Amino acid sequence: MYSIKHAQLAMGALPMADITIYTIDVRAFGKGYNEFYEQAKSMGVQFVKGKVARIERLDNGNMALHYEDMLGEGGHKTAEHDLVVLTVGFLPNTDVFSLYKGEALAADEFGYLRETDPVSEPTRTNVDGLFAAGTTIGVMDIPDTVLHSGAAASQAAGYLERTRGGQ
Ligand SMILES: Cc1cc2nc3c(=O)[nH]c(=O)nc-3n(C[C@H](O)[C@H](O)[C@H](O)COP(=O)(O)OP(=O)(O)OC[C@H]3O[C@@H](n4cnc5c(N)ncnc54)[C@H](O)[C@@H]3O)c2cc1C
Repeated sequence: MYSIKHAQLAMGALPMADITIYTIDVRAFGKGYNEFYEQAKSMGVQFVKGKVARIERLDNGNMALHYEDMLGEGGHKTAEHDLVVLTVGFLPNTDVFSLYKGEALAADEFGYLRETDPVSEPTRTNVDGLFAAGTTIGVMDIPDTVLHSGAAASQAAGYLERTRGGQ
């Protein structure tokens, strides 16, 4: 999604630019995301479903991109571009496991913290009094992060209120 956003921004600044996004899967999973993807296509962004295997610099300064064409005719293809931007995938920050010395924090197989019950008690972790917000629990956009952080603040306030009486 952020590659699509960058493509739209680049096209806004450079309307004559030819932009191609090589993708294995388009992960337009959220509300309005598919429309955003369709909008980029209608603006002229080309999407190629193809796994990029190698990039080499040519004598003219351009880049040759070798990729596997997964749709269309299939097979090995080469395309020439004057600029190649690599998009990195989203990864969890696993620093939290060394920062927090108490009881082991529950996480999923990718290293994102696990909510004990995302439906009835969002942000609550397996550790008493520790609440996880935003992208600590998974890939999230800004609106969902804001919503989730509000839930964490609310959970923390409720926790303090409950435990204060016991002190
Ligand atoms: C390139 C890119 C483009 C994006 N574009 C969009 C967009 O257009 N719209 C949209 O809705 N979403 C977009 N997103 C997603 C958006 O960035 C996230 O949803 C949002 O930033 C998540 O907020 P967060 O608070 O969970 O994490 P972050 O914003 O990553 O905040 C975590 C903070 O913790 C700090 N931190 C980390 N470790 C430590 C530590 N040990 N001690 C102290 N501080 C620490 C970090 O420096 C960082 O400031 C984009 C993401 C990327 C990568």
